[in-house]
Parts: sequence; structure tokens; C-alpha cells
Amino acid sequence: MIAVLLPVVILLLAQYRSLAGLEGKTRAAVQENLRQTLQSFSCGVVKKAEALATETLGGIDPADVEEERFDRIADRLSAIRQSHPEADLAFVVIHCSCRKKNFAIFATPEGIRRIDHDHFKQAPEVQSAIETYNNAALLSAAPVPGRKTLFEQSHCSIFPGAKIEPSSVFIFTPVNKVDGEGQIGFAGMTLKSRYIREQLLPQAMGELLRGAGDDSTPVISVLDENDREVYSSGSGLARHEVLLPFIPVLRQWKMGIGYRNTTIEALARSQFRQNLLLIGVAISLLIAGLILALRATTREMKLVEAKTTFVSNVSHELKTPLSLIRLFAETLELGRVRNPEEAQEYFRIINRESRRLTRLINNILDFSKIEAGRRQYQFAETDVAEVVTEVLQSYERQMTNAGFEARTSIQPDLPPALIDREAMAQAVLNLVDNAIRYSDQAKRIEVSVRLRGGDIAIEVADQGVGIPKAEHQRIFEKFYRVSTGLVHDTKGSGLGLAIVKHIVEAHHGRVTVESAPGKGSRFTILLPSVRSEAPEAAPESLSPDAALGAHTSGAASAASMGGYSVAENPHH
Ligand code: ADP
Repeated sequence: MIAVLLPVVILLLAQYRSLAGLEGKTRAAVQENLRQTLQSFSCGVVKKAEALATETLGGIDPADVEEERFDRIADRLSAIRQSHPEADLAFVVIHCSCRKKNFAIFATPEGIRRIDHDHFKQAPEVQSAIETYNNAALLSAAPVPGRKTLFEQSHCSIFPGAKIEPSSVFIFTPVNKVDGEGQIGFAGMTLKSRYIREQLLPQAMGELLRGAGDDSTPVISVLDENDREVYSSGSGLARHEVLLPFIPVLRQWKMGIGYRNTTIEALARSQFRQNLLLIGVAISLLIAGLILALRATTREMKLVEAKTTFVSNVSHELKTPLSLIRLFAETLELGRVRNPEEAQEYFRIINRESRRLTRLINNILDFSKIEAGRRQYQFAETDVAEVVTEVLQSYERQMTNAGFEARTSIQPDLPPALIDREAMAQAVLNLVDNAIRYSDQAKRIEVSVRLRGGDIAIEVADQGVGIPKAEHQRIFEKFYRVSTGLVHDTKGSGLGLAIVKHIVEAHHGRVTVESAPGKGSRFTILLPSVRSEAPEAAPESLSPDAALGAHTSGAASAASMGGYSVAENPHH
């Protein structure tokens, strides 16, 4: 057992340690996962902003710019503002040392504002736009290859006093020469923060979740420059597990992510507990399996031991009657008897011993049939009392000679039972035989047949050595013999009661034992009767007439013998 338990304990400790390590790793892995979710969210926002830029600013024709078709550019910028109410401002700023004339055109809520080359350098809005663009270009020092759109979030308004939100998000795209060789300026637009809060962020979130949101989905929230929450994808956020600057689109803001009503620590802990529980269950099952295997092995070993004892007991059981038969048969054959009484005595011994042999052999043959599942029964409505009486008659002489007093009490008018006559006789015979063999000084046997709760009860009681309570179940097991007390002296095969149990159960009945060491034993066979409505008899109504030799004495006649003979049983 120690050899098994020690590795299990070591395994348990190793598992516990690795689970504790796993708890830390789980925490880091979940945190990394959340970081990636935030980055995906940010990418979604970038994509939407880029798509907006392509749709709007992408429509500005470089040819119009190069050839200074101001009206067409102004129309395009106005159209952007009209079709996209989220845009506060749309503008084009052309400033390149390669050009003689620079200019800027702004579409504002107040209308179109054009700044020509002459006022270009002094115009604060132009300078402010260029500065913001330069900032955006600087901040995206390592832009994603192929990305042309730049973003900047600024507190400064290009047109102070105009009806434009101060904290604006700028989207810029470069304006290149018609031949694509070099940049000559930029186009841009600002987005209203209400649009960002109410449309851009929820839409990007919706695409990120794609309907997969449930209670375990993390909650993303966006904080402004004053750490005020401007957007949240859900309620009940316990705390920000990861907080990152919302680059590149909302550089001044932060995005955070966490779980609803729980934290990573709590999640990792509950995961740890779950794993520990699973391991606990697995190890309990393992131990239970080991215990079962151990018990099975012990039982198997006991069975092997019992079989060995069985062989030695049976050999002895076979040898003793055989040598007695041979001895007395030879004596008779050689005519070495002094008188006819002596001869009679020898015949009796030969008869008794050959019956004993037959019974033993029948039990062994029967047992092997039961084991092979070949034991068959022929059930017929039978008077059980008659079967019991026949068994006792066949045993009467033997009991008398051994000095036993047998009392029989049979209830009259018992209903019949559906039984196999031969098999039931064998079961009763085994009980009576045991009662004789396991009796010591008090040689009294009582046999009764009566109705008990709709069943027919056959009771065989003795005042012999008795059986300890702990053994009551086991004595019905094959080969099992009680190994304590007086029983030691009596040889046996350990098959008798196993056969009784099998026969009785085949009759849908049961066999019980009441016994205590030194107080005798009472074995009861309960058989379902065919007509259970027969009246239950009060014990005193038992007919003494039905008793077979109420006090069987040594004077019992040889004529009453013979009834049951296993040798005549066609099954054996
Ligand atoms: P066997 O008698 O051949 O050993 P059984 O199966 O008939 O095998 O009985 C099993 C064991 O039960 C016996 O070894 C004995 O210890 C105990 N036993 C059976 N009947 C009695 C009885 N009437 N009184 C005391 N012990 C009994």
C-alpha cells in the first residue's frame, strides 16, 4: 500500500506545484490576451478612420490642385462636409518650395475660406494646420508601410472662435503631384468628438466582437485626457487590467480593458481551484481503483488458498470412507466375523461410508456444474414437507447411530411450491449433514417446515458449535470454511452451503442463518409458495402427528430408511 501511496503523494505535490506555477502563467497569458484585444480594437478604429479618409479626402483631384482650380476644390470640400456631418472641417493646404504659389482652402461651418499665396505665411489657420500635420507626421515616425493616412489629436483649434470643437481629431492624407513624383501638400479633416464616442468607437467594438459578446467578454473603456470615461463597451468593469495610450488615432486618450465584476487574479484562482479539484477527483479515482484491485487480488489469493485447502480436505474426505469400506469389506470377505450382529454392524458401516462418499461426490459434481453454468432445474409443484420428510428418513439411521435426537415439526396443509425435488432434497440434506457434523456435546437437531409471510420456511437448527456473526455472510461463499474454534476438527469441502445458496436462489428463495458461537445455529430456507393465501399457522397448531419420529430413537427400523438417495438422481 505504501508503495502505491508514496508515488501518489509525490504526484500530488508535483501537480500542486505545477498548478501554482500555472496560475502565474495564466495571469500573464490572460493579460497578454487582453493587450492584444485592445490592439485589435485600436486597429479597427484606424481602419474605419482610414476608410473615411479614402472616401472623402481621396476624392480631391491632384490635377485640380496643380492647376489651381479653386472652385472645384472648394466644391469637393463642401461636399465632404455635407455628406459627412461628422466632419467639422475639411481642408487642403498646398505648400511646397517647388511651387511658385502656395494656397489653402478650408470648408468650415461658416463657409469656404481661401488663403492665397500672398497671405499664406501670415495666416494663423494655415500655420496651425501645417504645425498639426507636421506633428502627426512626426508621431508616426514609423508608419505602417503603405499607410498614407496620418492622425493627430489636438486641443488647439485651427479657427478659434468658430463653431468647432477644440479637442479635435485630425485625419490627413498627402496631396501628391499628378505624376506622383513628390508631395506638394496635404488634405485633412477634423472629426467631431461626439461622432467618435457615439459611432466610431461602438462600431469598431461591434466589429471586434462580431456578436460574440457575453458575460465573460472583456469590457473595453476609453478615457479622455482627464481620465474621464468617454466610452465603455459594457457595464460592471471591475478594474482596468491593461491600460494603453490610444495611438495613433486618439493619441491624447487611453483605452483600458478588464472583466465584468471580476479580476484576472480571481479568474486565475478559480481556474487553479478547478484544476486542483479535477486532480483531486482523478487521484481519488486512482486510489479507489487501487483499493479495488488490491481487494480483488486479496480475494483471489484467498480463493487460491481455499482451493488448496479444499483439495487436501476432499482427499481426506475421500480416503477415510474408502479405507473403512475396504477394511470392513475385506473382513467380511475373509469370513473373520464372530457373529451375525458383528457382520450386520460391518454392513451398516459400509453402507454409511458409501453414502457419505456419494454425498461428497455429488456435491463436487454439482458444484462444477453450477460453476460451468450447466446446472439445470426441473421445477414442478411439489409438497415441500414430503421432500423434507424423505430426506430425514434417509438420514434417520445415521443420526440415531451417532446419538442424535431429531425433532421434526411440519405444519399441516401447506401449499405446494414450485421446486426441483432432487435439488431441494440436496439442499436440505446439506443443512442436516452440517448440523450433525458441527454439533459437539448437545446432539439435538430440530427441523421444521411452516408458512412464514407467504413463504414456505424450512428450518434446520442444531445446538452445536455455532458460527461467529462476522462469518455469517462468508460461509455461503465457495470453499469458505470457518477457521476458528471447534470447527477445525471437522473436515469438509466448503461447498455445501455454496450449493444450498445457489439452489435456493434458483428457486427465487433465500437462505438465512442465525447463529452464535456455542449456542448452535439455525439455517432457514425460504421458498415462495404457489398459493401464498394458505393460512399462516400459529406455532402451537403444528401437528405433532406430522412430526417424523418426534423423538427419533435408536430403535428406528431399517424399513424407514432409503427415501432419498443421491446416487439415483439422474442429474448426477
Ligand atoms: P463444509 O461443511 O464442507 O466445510 P459448508 O459450505 O457446508 O462446507 O460450510 C461452510 C462452513 O460453515 C463450515 O466449514 C462451517 O465452519 C460452517 N458451518 C456450516 N454449517 C454449520 C453448522 N450447522 N454449525 C456450525 N458451523 C457451520
